[in-house]
Amino acid sequence: MHEEVAAYALGVLDDEENEAFERHLDTCQRCQAELKELAEVPEQLDDLKHSPTTAEESR
Ligand SMILES: [Zn+2]
Repeated sequence: MHEEVAAYALGVLDDEENEAFERHLDTCQRCQAELKELAEVPEQLDDLKHSPTTAEESR
């Protein structure tokens, strides 16, 4: 179950898996902490996708 936190963060789970994981998330501090970190990744990937040529300059 813990492994699904990445898929959940990326939004690739189907409805059933999503609900099942959210139920797990409710009781699992480990996944809550991991989700917090992973939540930032899609945004970063999105950023790279939209501006591939400026990725180096973003810092
Ligand atoms: Zn967990």
